[in-house]
Amino acid sequence: MTVGVLLQRKTGDIITISPEASLTDALKSLAEHRIGAIVAVGPAGRLEGILSERDLVRILAEKGPDILSSPVSSVMTRAVVTCGVDETIPVIMERMTRGRFRHVPVVDGDKLLGIISIGDVVKHRVEEMERESAELRDYIMTA
Ligand code: AMP
Repeated sequence: MTVGVLLQRKTGDIITISPEASLTDALKSLAEHRIGAIVAVGPAGRLEGILSERDLVRILAEKGPDILSSPVSSVMTRAVVTCGVDETIPVIMERMTRGRFRHVPVVDGDKLLGIISIGDVVKHRVEEMERESAELRDYIMTA
């Protein structure tokens, strides 16, 4: 299965934030949309960074709550690892494992098409395993 097919099955908007927005705004957006990371995009819709709940936990532990008025750009990860729609799920799983992150934005050149989370990948893998075991059960019953 490709990233494109998995993305088609996802509903809802792509949640983004301006790099100039405050960390408080990012925190609120993560909570409101029940997501673990938010993609920071510039005025032209260009992907500029990613901010995850882990970044917020780390910076709060280091600097305390006053940091929350700082911009997203001061904390986000700028070197974002992305993927394309034609890549396969096992390749993305490998990329997440190697990079030790749980979110991968899907892009076409400069255009942000969506975001794949570890939750999407695990859900897909569980469904695949359930299908395989049902097929095996059917095969054994009819053999
Ligand atoms: P996560 O596991 O996705 O919550 O993120 C863990 C750390 O990796 C945080 O510092 C994120 O900013 C960073 N991160 C998350 N996704 C990516 C990505 N696709 N590329 C690079 N860094 C990322």
